This record gives sequence, structure tokens and C-alpha cells, in this order.
Amino acid sequence: MNEAVKRNLLGLDAQALGRFFEALGEKPFRARQVLRWIHQQSESDFARMSDLSKALRDKLAETACIVAPAIVGDTPAEDGTRKWLVKVDGANAVESVFIPETARATLCVSSQAGCVLDCSFCATGKQGFNRNLTAAEIVGQLWSANKILGVERKTERIISNVVFMGMGEPMLNLDHVIPALRLMLDDNAYGLSRRRVTVSTSGVIPGIDRLRDECPVALAVSLHAPNDRLRDELVPVNRKYPLSALIAACNRYLEKAPRDFITFEYVMLEGVNDTEAHAREAAALARRVRCKYNLIPFNPFAGSGYKRSSAERIRRFAEILQRAGVTVTTRKTRGDDIAAACGQLAGDVADRTRRSARRVPIKEVHA
Ligand code: SAH
Ligand code: SF4
Repeated sequence: MNEAVKRNLLGLDAQALGRFFEALGEKPFRARQVLRWIHQQSESDFARMSDLSKALRDKLAETACIVAPAIVGDTPAEDGTRKWLVKVDGANAVESVFIPETARATLCVSSQAGCVLDCSFCATGKQGFNRNLTAAEIVGQLWSANKILGVERKTERIISNVVFMGMGEPMLNLDHVIPALRLMLDDNAYGLSRRRVTVSTSGVIPGIDRLRDECPVALAVSLHAPNDRLRDELVPVNRKYPLSALIAACNRYLEKAPRDFITFEYVMLEGVNDTEAHAREAAALARRVRCKYNLIPFNPFAGSGYKRSSAERIRRFAEILQRAGVTVTTRKTRGDDIAAACGQLAGDVADRTRRSARRVPIKEVHA
């Protein structure tokens, strides 16, 4: 069979894989075995799946494949953060970022090539929208990261947390994000806890409701402004889904969420959303929904027109929230020397050319 028409099993969740085996006339438990091979052993060759019969292995090789998008760039930062450039087709590449910490290791994944929502401070938004990633391309980022790290460190399962904070708006691609999430949570695949998988959204309310019903995981909402007037400007999707409706959606989400709070992300833009009055408004919002604030120092990129708030302003903003009884953390900026920090991900050709001088030699890692 032509490679192009083979079914890629990488993005199929347990149910879809079960249906695939049923259609082949095989027992459903085969799906479980194959899930483990693919996602726990990082195996992409059916011939090595030793607990399947030779006949089944041959049949699978004939009709199916296990293909992750190629990693075409691998850039380490000073602080241990590492950015992978993931080529999803001839015209598009996305980025995933590995962030090791003492007690956990997080992979930040992309869900779309580009983004249609055009937040004023975001490099991905400035690039425009190219296309949705498939479930295989989303979970493939985790698969490849595990495979690369597993080979290098000779240990398995390094990644303990996944955040959908790379390129794209996950709530506008739930048809593919949900199967990828199910695989991340499945004990026969990655077995991550719902509390350790976070979807971040700019506030697409129908998506928040659908995720609540179909696959609730930890939720982060990119708030960035405490009132509609300012939020309309910074996060244009607010014109369609204003703050009061967003807060109501967050409260509905909490009924099913694995954590008892929503994380509000708040990018600190000098002179734009970082005054004491904004902090007091942000504290007032926190009385309407159980939440924690995560302040993100703005990560600049060429032509953004914004500046990062000073450390002193960020400290003062956090203090006002804390005094009002709101939990607040300030995100440590990681990987900014390799443009891997929040909002700096672009992954387009122009972007690669601009930074090529700082990039380590590109290794073709065929995952
Ligand atoms: N589309 C989703 C997820 C991807 S963006 C969302 O908007 O939530 C992940 C986070 O990075 C969001 O909170 C986003 O607002 C933030 N971000 C975007 N550009 C940034 C920048 N230049 N500096 C710091 N954070 C930024
Ligand atoms: Fe899209 Fe999120 Fe960037 Fe806004 S911040 S443009 S929603 S990726």
C-alpha cells in the first residue's frame, strides 16, 4: 500500500484505535498492546512489537504507520530549556519547548500553526493563521520529546507536565486537541494526571464548555486585562466573549475541573495594564471566580511596540493582589535567549532565518 494512504496510528486514542482493530477483524485488546508500544516504548516499527503475531505485524505494516512530524531544529538555552522546531509539512513548522525544573519537567506544545486571534502582544498572532495541527502532530510533539530524551538520558518518562501554551489557540482545534489529551491521560499511553495537563485559552467560551464536558484538565485563561475596554484591545476575542461571560464560563468549568481554581495569566506590559488601579480591578475579578494569578513578564519581539514592566512594578502589582487575599505567582522567564519564552514562538521561515546565526547546528532527528 502506498505510504500516503496508510493510517497513521500515532494520533488515535484508545477508542479510535479499538475501532481500527475491530475493522481489521482483531480483538479490541490489541489496541491496548499497540498503544503501549507506540506511546510507552516510543516504537514506530510494527516488526518489533514482539507480543503481536507475525501475521498481525505484517498486516499492520501493510495498512498502517506510526509517524511523528520531523524535528528539524534543536536549540538549547543557557538555563536548560530546549526548543524543538517541528516540521509539520512543507510550508509549516511549529515549536515545542522543554522546561526542566527540580521536581518536574514540562513540555509546552503547539496546537495550531499560527493563530487567528491576533492578540496585540503575541508573536504567533502576528504571524497569522496557517492551519490546525492533527492529533498525531500534537501528541507527536510529546512522543518525539520522550524519544529524544529517553535515548539521551537512558531513562523513560521524563516529562511530567504538559501545557498547551505554544503556538495556537487550542480551543479552536478541539477536534484534534481532545484525542491528543486523551492519549496524554491514558494509562496505556502517557498516563499523565489531569492536574498536570493544562490547556491555555484566550477565552473562547464554546471551547471552554466543550472541554469541560468532554475532557476536563487544568485550565489557564489568558486574562491580561481586568476590564472589557482594555481587554478588547489586547485580546480581540474579548469583543465576542466579554469578561462577564468568560467568568461565568470559568465557574461552569470549575464544576468539572481537576483543580479547584482557574489560572489567570496576565502579561505585564509597561504602562498598559500594570498600574495599581489595574491590580485592584484584577483583585475584584478574583472575587467572582476561584482563581490564581500568574504574572508573565512580557517577552519582547521585534516590532511588538510593547515593553516589559519593571521588576518593581510587577512586585507591586503582585503585592496588591496578595493583600486582597489572591494567590499570585510571577513566572520566571525561561528560554528567552533562544526566543522560546511565552509569545515568542513563531516557527515561520522568516523567523528561522533571522535567528539562524544563534542556532546550534540543526540536527535531523528522525523520530
Ligand atoms: N492561545 C492560547 C495559548 C498559547 S499562548 C492563549 O492565548 O492562552 C500562551 C501564553 O503566552 C498566553 O497566556 C499568552 O497570552 C502568552 N503570551 C503571548 N505573547 C506573549 C509575550 N510576548 N510575552 C509573554 N507572554 C505572552
Ligand atoms: Fe493566539 Fe494565544 Fe497568541 Fe492570542 S496569545 S494570538 S490566542 S496564541
